[in-house]
This record gives sequence, structure tokens and C-alpha cells, in this order.
Amino acid sequence: MTNQIDRADLTPRFWEKKPLQKMSPREWEALCDGCGKCCLNKLEDDDTGEVALTRVACRLLDDQSCQCAHYENRHSFIPECIVLKPENLDTHAYWMPRTCAYRLLWDGKALPEWHPLLTGDPDSVHRAGVSVRGMTVSEFVTPLEEWEDYIIDEPG
Ligand code: SF4
Ligand code: SF4
Repeated sequence: MTNQIDRADLTPRFWEKKPLQKMSPREWEALCDGCGKCCLNKLEDDDTGEVALTRVACRLLDDQSCQCAHYENRHSFIPECIVLKPENLDTHAYWMPRTCAYRLLWDGKALPEWHPLLTGDPDSVHRAGVSVRGMTVSEFVTPLEEWEDYIIDEPG
């Protein structure tokens, strides 16, 4: 979900006034805090449904910017990358990071004070220690059978 996020000239605190379903595409995209956590691979237990987060990142994630290297045409490389929308949030909210703005708003919660929409600074997510900056290994060089060795607690 991470791209170059344009947060300029949006209505102040629009997310407190509009339901997710009524947001414009720009408002929707601006909700993303740029943490990169949804671009980490998860391991889901088929029996219990438990989801474990790993620090094995999608091959397109830039470990420093925490952004997708090819956001607009990412599906040419990663067809399974999810396009999050108001209509499918109900099926995805359960595995999304606890701090993810989409999950927070879906759950009726407020955005955290470090969110770039509140600070006006895209780096505030990194300073708050919530992003994956500098902590990932690429799935490109990490075989699936080793992913269990990379299970982590969610940053932040
Ligand atoms: S977890 Fe949520 S806020 Fe973080 S990059 Fe993904 S979509 Fe954006
Ligand atoms: S293609 Fe990979 S890096 Fe890009 S948004 Fe999807 S999961 Fe994240």
C-alpha cells in the first residue's frame, strides 16, 4: 500500500468528518502512514487462523523509504498485492497492522499523534519507531522455509 503519498491541500482532519466509503481517492491514499508493515510477509496458521508477522519483505519494498518501488504497476510484478478499498476492508482488517490507519478507522479509533496527516511530516512515522525502515530482509533472497526464523513483534 505504500507509494509517494500526496497529502497536500486536503481538508483538515477529513477522516474525522467523512466515512471511509465517502472519501476521494486522494483522501483514501493519504490515510496510509507509509509504515510499510503491510508489505511484510505473514505466516498464517491454517488451523488456528493466527497470523505471525515476519520481517521478510515483499521484493518491491524499499527498506529505507518503506515505499513500493513500482506502486502504480506493481501488479505486473506482484499480481497478488492487495488493492485495499472500503468494500474489502472487512475481509482484510484482521491481519492488518494494529497501527494501520485503515484498520484504526475501520475499528472506529483515532489516528495516532505521529501520523503524517497530523504532524505534516512524512518522516514522523519513522521517528516514532513504527515503520519497517532498516529492519527487513527481502523475500528475494530468503527461502520460504526460513521465514519462521524471521518472525517479529509488530514495530510500534
Ligand atoms: S500498514 Fe497501513 S498505514 Fe502502513 S503502509 Fe500499509 S496501508 Fe499504509
Ligand atoms: S507490491 Fe509489494 S511493496 Fe508494493 S505495495 Fe504490494 S506488497 Fe507492498
